[in-house]
Amino acid sequence: MKLPLGRQQILNVLSVDVEECFHATEVSGSDDGSRYTPSLVEPQTEQVLELLARHGVSATFFMLGKVAEKHPRLVQEIAKQGHEIGCHSYAHSLVYDLTPHEFREDTKRAVGCIEDACGLTPRIYRAPSYSITAKSLWALEILVELGFTHDSSIYPIRHDRYGIPGFGRNARRYETPSGGIYEVPIATARISSNRLVPVGGGGYLRLLPYCYTAAGVRRINDSESQPACVYFHPWELDPDQPRLTSSLVSTIRTYYGLRSMAGKLERLLSDFAFGPLTAVHPVEQPDLSLVR
Ligand SMILES: [Zn+2]
Repeated sequence: MKLPLGRQQILNVLSVDVEECFHATEVSGSDDGSRYTPSLVEPQTEQVLELLARHGVSATFFMLGKVAEKHPRLVQEIAKQGHEIGCHSYAHSLVYDLTPHEFREDTKRAVGCIEDACGLTPRIYRAPSYSITAKSLWALEILVELGFTHDSSIYPIRHDRYGIPGFGRNARRYETPSGGIYEVPIATARISSNRLVPVGGGGYLRLLPYCYTAAGVRRINDSESQPACVYFHPWELDPDQPRLTSSLVSTIRTYYGLRSMAGKLERLLSDFAFGPLTAVHPVEQPDLSLVR
C-alpha cells in the first residue's frame, strides 16, 4: 500500500507468541507434546525471523517459559536479531484456571527461564489464549508486583474462551491496588455502534481472506489514528505440522489456512508499518488523564 506523499504511516505492534504447536489451547490433552510430535519450535520460529529480517521489521516475541528452558539458543537468537523479549507464561495454563498463587509461581518460573536463556528480564506479559478476563483481572496486580510494565492479554470482544466485552479498545494505563500497568489490547474494529469484530489475531488472518485483516488495520490507523496490536504464532506458518486436535471446530481453528499464512504475513508487512510493543507504547507515557 503506497501512501500519498507526506502522509505518515502509523507504527503498529507486531507480536509473536512463541510456543510449540502442541501448546495451543485448541490442542487439548497434549501438554507433554513430545509424546505426539518432536519439537518444531526452532525451525518454525527461524522461518518467522527470516521473514521479519527480509522486511526489516522488529517485533515482540512472547516466550513460553518451557520453550526458553529447552531452547535457550533460540531466545538468544531472537534477542540478537534486535527483537523484544516478552513472557508468555511458563506452562501455557489458562490464567482463569489458576489460583492467584499458582499464577504468580508460573510467571516467576517463566521469568527465571527467560533470564537464564538470554540474560534479559521480560517486562511485558501475554497470557496464554488471552485468558485475562473479567474473572481473572486480579492477574494484572500480580504482574505489577512482579515488575511488569506492560500487559497485552486482553481481547475486548466476546468469545467462547476469552475476551472482556466493553474493555477499552485502545492502549491505556490500568490501575491496580499495587500500581499501574500499561494494557495493550489486541486490535478490534468497530463496524457499528454496538458491534466490534476481532482484527489482530493470527487465526483471523489465517482463516479469513487477507483483505479482512488489512481493512481492519487500515480502519484503526486511518479513521481512528490509533496503532493496531497484531499477533500470530510460529506454528501458524507450518503447513506440515502433525494434526493433534480432536474436534472439528478445533481442527478448523488450528489448521485451516496454514498454507496461505506466510504469504498473507508478507503482504501485511509490506502494507503497514510494524514494530515491537514498547516502541509503539513506550514505558514512560504522558498522563493523559490530566490533560483537559
Ligand atoms: Zn499461546
